[in-house]
Amino acid sequence: MYLKFRVSREPANDFIHLFVNRLAYGIQATKPLPNGSIPYYLARDWLTKAPKLLDADVVRMHLNGDITINLFAINPETQRSKWVAVDADFDGALQSLIELQQALKQDGVEAAIEQSRRGGHLWIFGAAPLLASEFRIYIYNLALRLGVPVKCGLKDGIEIFPRQDRLEEGEYGNALRAPLGVHRKTNLRYWFPAAAPRPEAQLGYLKGLPKLTEARLKALIHGMRFPEAYRQVVAAPYTSIASPSGQREFRILELVRTTRRDSRNWWAKCPSCSLVGRDRTGDNLSIQIKDSRFYKCWAGCTKDEIRAALGRPIRMKQAA
Ligand SMILES: [Zn+2]
Repeated sequence: MYLKFRVSREPANDFIHLFVNRLAYGIQATKPLPNGSIPYYLARDWLTKAPKLLDADVVRMHLNGDITINLFAINPETQRSKWVAVDADFDGALQSLIELQQALKQDGVEAAIEQSRRGGHLWIFGAAPLLASEFRIYIYNLALRLGVPVKCGLKDGIEIFPRQDRLEEGEYGNALRAPLGVHRKTNLRYWFPAAAPRPEAQLGYLKGLPKLTEARLKALIHGMRFPEAYRQVVAAPYTSIASPSGQREFRILELVRTTRRDSRNWWAKCPSCSLVGRDRTGDNLSIQIKDSRFYKCWAGCTKDEIRAALGRPIRMKQAA
């Protein structure tokens, strides 16, 4: 089991200063889903359903180990983030993070490695919030140059947060498990190995790291563009066609909105996952391009569950 702490307001405020881009946040459930994963839910006021706003008390509970929160990467009002985090969770993940950390150092950029279950997160902090799009241009080009694998469809590799260049109105983008808390799946905390395993020492270490300035980032990405190889989003074939014969043949591509494609599959948010607030990244469901009757949820939903979630259960009698 994990240690509980009783932190004061000061480390909580340090944490907010370092990590919090916007006040909406997610809370991790306490019980796993049947497939073993433990989802996060957007924290909402139970009465008004409005997103709850994060404050030092919420952060203290996270640091103490009472709850586990996740954090959004982009402030939608500025399209900026205080940090970029590289999430690596695959065989050889730590090696990739160390390679990135060393290459960053050659650019004069300090990055901190946080361990996790299988790999870790590599964090780079801005001296002030930096444009998500510029952070992304820098890190994706670095990954490309080093040959570090980037996650794409089913291909394992690093994931870079912020995962969007910008947010549209009402969007949250992707959230990342907040550091220094308890990972509910393992009931362990994962620390930055460079500092003592206590919230105050960890935050002191992170506060003392040299931060990347906007001018330096702009100089680093001068003349660079986002690498074409990593552009993923492709226009979707989403249409809603009523079949002229009145037959209700099931065509999954008419019922889900795809988010991208690769050489073999369309990818979409899994309707069954999304019912329980999962699949925030919108790509758990693959649909074969060659024959869309073949589709699969990579988080483990069955065909029955997917059909039921779409309101078209498999065992429903076909209308005449
Ligand atoms: Zn699913």
